Amino acid sequence: MLNKRIEDALNEQINAEFWSAYFYLSMSSYLAHTGYPGFAKWFNVQFQEEQAHAQIYVNYVLSRGGRVILKPIAEVRTEWDSVLNCFEETLAHENKVTSLINNLYSIALEEKDFATQSMLKWFIDEQVEEEKNAQEVIDNLKMIKDNGYGLYMIDKELGTRTFVTPAPLANA
Ligand code: MG
Repeated sequence: MLNKRIEDALNEQINAEFWSAYFYLSMSSYLAHTGYPGFAKWFNVQFQEEQAHAQIYVNYVLSRGGRVILKPIAEVRTEWDSVLNCFEETLAHENKVTSLINNLYSIALEEKDFATQSMLKWFIDEQVEEEKNAQEVIDNLKMIKDNGYGLYMIDKELGTRTFVTPAPLANA
């Protein structure tokens, strides 16, 4: 059985994952509208991943006999200055998510909740990937600066991304 402090913290994280999904769907829609189908696709996969993350936490809370309490999702931004600006905000957001997960892990340590610590390890590793992916695209965009052909090529490349069901859900 989950203790109340852990249950509340996990419910907060479920809300944060849905906010992330909203955030990336908003970026995806903005980029599709402004003529970047590949970047839009990349963010749409990001949107699907965030929903999967929320589902992993939901399944976990339920498997421990806890209650899932869904709260309202805060409003997200709808416009950005550039593609680079989208990825810079993505990296800043993922840094924030990393600190949320680190905080969750600290709570699980304090409460001696070993099962929650174990579950969170997948997310800790996932955040390393999330930050690395965003940083790579930022580096590429900075390399090409305002070169239209370069932007076209990165848009094409990122458009090949497809959603892969995260391991904790694939094995569920
Ligand atoms: Mg996430």
